[in-house]
Amino acid sequence: MSHVITAPAPVAIPVAGGGTFPVRRIYCVGRNYAEHAQEMGHSGREPPFFFMKPADTLVPVADGETGAIDYPTLTANLHHEIELVVAIGTGGRDIAAADAARHIWGYAVGLDMTRRDLQNDMKKQGRPWEIGKAFEQGAPIGPLVAKAQTGELLQGAITLHVNGTLKQKGDLADLIWNVNETIEQLSKAWVLQPGDLIYTGTPAGVAAVVRGDVMEGAIAGLPSLKVAVK
Ligand code: MN
Repeated sequence: MSHVITAPAPVAIPVAGGGTFPVRRIYCVGRNYAEHAQEMGHSGREPPFFFMKPADTLVPVADGETGAIDYPTLTANLHHEIELVVAIGTGGRDIAAADAARHIWGYAVGLDMTRRDLQNDMKKQGRPWEIGKAFEQGAPIGPLVAKAQTGELLQGAITLHVNGTLKQKGDLADLIWNVNETIEQLSKAWVLQPGDLIYTGTPAGVAAVVRGDVMEGAIAGLPSLKVAVK
């Protein structure tokens, strides 16, 4: 059987050192650092919750290059959220936290860009968040690095600078639900598959960017991610 329209291009992100990683789904974790949960008006260790972005919202940026995103439509409050991204190499369901690490292929630095005004409107009305999160070019990502190269990333600084000024700062050790626990919870709700990415949540300091701003995200042990807003 032949397709009746041209098939959409498959989505893949570059791997440091060569090759590409084909992407199936992007899962995102909400409010996963205590200080950020507080700045969003919450406290305590509530169970993790998840949302998704379409794979084709990824904007891959090569190591040492400055990527670019267009300022999105419908918003006047585009926020940066710097996040550790985990790439799943081996799928599964009901994965125990103690067994989760072997399902990880690698890691990258990602930005969960957010139309905060639209997200807040939807929250207020009890409606889905997609319009605030799942928009074009909403998921810039740096090169993926194999876990075989980095080892398990359990701690280390995570920062975001905008135009050279420090805006977000945290440590992977401060994740409310660490990567292994996140995989355990996520795989109760969905069957993880090779090619899935998990944006693991952002530390405190989220704020708006405007056209002309340059964001630079960094996580200890990974290539940084530099993105300009056009
Ligand atoms: Mn986020």
